[in-house]
Amino acid sequence: MGLSQRVLTLYDQPMWDSIEQQRFALQHCDDCATVRYPPGPICPHCLSLAASWKPLSGRATILSWVVFHRQYFDDFPPPYNSVAVQIAEGPIVVSNLIGDEPDGSWIGAEVEFVYRRQGERMQHAVRLLRSGPVAGGSDQTAP
Ligand SMILES: [Zn+2]
Repeated sequence: MGLSQRVLTLYDQPMWDSIEQQRFALQHCDDCATVRYPPGPICPHCLSLAASWKPLSGRATILSWVVFHRQYFDDFPPPYNSVAVQIAEGPIVVSNLIGDEPDGSWIGAEVEFVYRRQGERMQHAVRLLRSGPVAGGSDQTAP
């Protein structure tokens, strides 16, 4: 087994740097404003090469989820969940829901990105959005 590893391409490093700073950022197309995920050299909508890295709003909606009962990595002991969330800016990102679980279906639940240290690196996760202050917990939220 072993620890989970980041997948690094030629274009990913600024995203991982932003996550390390707890300010998840992605490329925004300078010509049509489409947000790119995964990071890449060209806009999938208008084919522009121009883009700027900007922090995301941090808001997302759960599209799908699964709970794993088998261990694949030393740093993810079972059971743990994976969620596919659609971020407010459009792209779909896979993360982990931490904290309280939704009552009933998870699909459609509003979440926000939070950050937690996984060994040597910072990793994003999501938690349910609350109206008002969140009580307890040691997770840190984006500024
Ligand atoms: Zn574009």
